[in-house]
Amino acid sequence: MQIDGNPVLVTGGGSGLGAATARHFAGLGASVAILDYNLEGARALADEIGGMAIQADVSDQAAVGAAFDAATAHFGSAPRIAVNCAGIGMAARIVGREGKLSFDVFEKTLRVNLFGTYNVMSHAAKRMAELTPLEDSERGVIINTASVAFEDGQLGQAAYAASKGAIASMCLPAARELARSGIRVMAIAPGLFHTPMMEGLPEEVAAEITANIPFPARLGQAREFALLAEQIATNRFLNGTTIRLDGAVRLPPR
Ligand code: NAD
Repeated sequence: MQIDGNPVLVTGGGSGLGAATARHFAGLGASVAILDYNLEGARALADEIGGMAIQADVSDQAAVGAAFDAATAHFGSAPRIAVNCAGIGMAARIVGREGKLSFDVFEKTLRVNLFGTYNVMSHAAKRMAELTPLEDSERGVIINTASVAFEDGQLGQAAYAASKGAIASMCLPAARELARSGIRVMAIAPGLFHTPMMEGLPEEVAAEITANIPFPARLGQAREFALLAEQIATNRFLNGTTIRLDGAVRLPPR
């Protein structure tokens, strides 16, 4: 899928990996809609890149539908590329200290990360399927964000790993289903990236994390995520799989 001149919708585009992707795709000539529930972040970036900011919770079906309608009206075409970056990373033990259970964390994490991704993917696919087919009969590309925790979830990451594992698992059936509409579905599983999500970690935890990254021995840069998203968008033979982007890191148990 050519990026230049096409409408793109990026969720979680108000911060971190989503913001870098929105900025990068705008630099390549795309018209970018930034969907985030943090309207302030989305607006600031939209002003910078000449895009459109939309406030919505990715797990809200009506709000996401309205967001796609607004982007379609604004750009004169439904988005050809949808990048799902909205997500949360809450840590909790299954049975915490003093027997505290964490069903609430599990439910919230699955709701935003998994149901949100599924919701955006379904709204994107429905509209992409109605677009004119381009080269190779391609109509659209959906890029979801998993995490290396889909394979090496750490202690306290049962909810997060479950949400990201499901994002990775649904990639192939989604690609198989949407193939007849000329829509590709891919997922990126980032390792440890320098974003506001990671900035929240205590310094010693961040240093320990970096020490586990073989090469390059540093956190990933959000731009490196955006470069892979560009490659996925433009390389039509990439479909139905999850790519780890992680400097060869394998997360230890804790
Ligand atoms: P971030 O916190 O910087 O950005 C996430 C954005 O998503 C924020 O702008 C936030 O407002 C938005 N968001 C959260 N919940 C939302 C909701 N319900 N509806 C709409 N918007 C919502 O995080 P990031 O580091 O850029 O992470 C982006 C994605 O990458 C997440 O899915 C995260 O799990 C994944 N990831 C990040 C890392 C990392 O190291 N940073 C590693 C692996 C995976």
